[in-house]
Amino acid sequence: MTEQSAGQTYPCNTCGAQLEFKPGSSALTCPYCGTHQQIELKRRRVVDRDWASLASKPRRPRSEVPANLFVCTQCGAHTESDTWSDVCQFCDAPVVADEFNPDLVPPEGVLPFQVDRAAARERLREWVRSRWFAPNRFKHVDEAESLKSTYLPHWTWDADTRSRYTGQRGEHYYVEDSNGNRSRRTRWHLARGTVSRSFDDVVVPATNHVSHAYLEKLGEDWPTGQALAYQPEFLSGHHTQRYDIEPEQGLGHAKERMARVIERDVRRDIGGDEQRVHSIDTSYSNIKYKLLLLPVWLVVYLFGGKSWQVLVSGQTGRVTGERPWSAWKIAFAVVIGLVVAAVAVYFIVLSDSSGGSPTTGGGVGGY
Ligand SMILES: [Zn+2]
Ligand SMILES: [Zn+2]
Repeated sequence: MTEQSAGQTYPCNTCGAQLEFKPGSSALTCPYCGTHQQIELKRRRVVDRDWASLASKPRRPRSEVPANLFVCTQCGAHTESDTWSDVCQFCDAPVVADEFNPDLVPPEGVLPFQVDRAAARERLREWVRSRWFAPNRFKHVDEAESLKSTYLPHWTWDADTRSRYTGQRGEHYYVEDSNGNRSRRTRWHLARGTVSRSFDDVVVPATNHVSHAYLEKLGEDWPTGQALAYQPEFLSGHHTQRYDIEPEQGLGHAKERMARVIERDVRRDIGGDEQRVHSIDTSYSNIKYKLLLLPVWLVVYLFGGKSWQVLVSGQTGRVTGERPWSAWKIAFAVVIGLVVAAVAVYFIVLSDSSGGSPTTGGGVGGY
């Protein structure tokens, strides 16, 4: 099931090859002759959209939306792909979708790549070298050619929340028994109240293709306020994954994240020395969303018959990911640790058994 996309093309004025977005710049560049072409920004503002109007509109489920069929303008090859941009698998020319299926939410904004391939490789190299107890073969992962610049879709959510809660406030007090020993007790009081908060740009992944645990580590510092309004030029020469997590599900994840913050607010509101939370009932209003494309250098490598992922933020160069552990190196370290402990114990015992010596540690120092 595919639909054809003629694709956006950015031919080089000098040599006719396809231009690619150059990380860290606001220009397209030709990989063959180096020609630069400034990207003209068409729309300034990134807009948070009203969730209620999207939620009430019927959409086909994401799984029924056909894949894109890209036709390479350089070699004519057809590529079927679940992406919004890719490179031709035969000639490496960039292909970028020029329209979005009406059943999909189109990307609203993009954080263009700041970190280029060489810098990403350098950060990866530092990360790999600083991993303790990694197998030697893993130390060559940074030489792998699989470093792919990929825009990963994320949902961002805004909401005004109002949460009614019930719980208990614990206050400490001290009692003294007949022997004069003080002990601490807690007196509990019923507590109820309301807390409110406005959330802005809670970022959650919109794809299951990459580990959420690692994405969330990168996601703590995405500067969503710096996102630019979506323009296909930023995608040229890079991969862009279509989202596979529906916005409804994304909102569910965002609410879980908000709930953790709300619970902290409730505990602060209850006050006292300890808190018990019995119930929190949150109502959400003014919910806004957008689909953002965030830049990640992806490395997938095979190790021990399993595939592993490492992510380098295309914004900050921060690295997170999976790494193998060397059973040999860990075992060796444990043995060394045991030997050191045994030697220490030996000397302690020795110095104890020479008890009666006037100087401490004399049993050792005397030799
Ligand atoms: Zn050129
Ligand atoms: Zn091609």
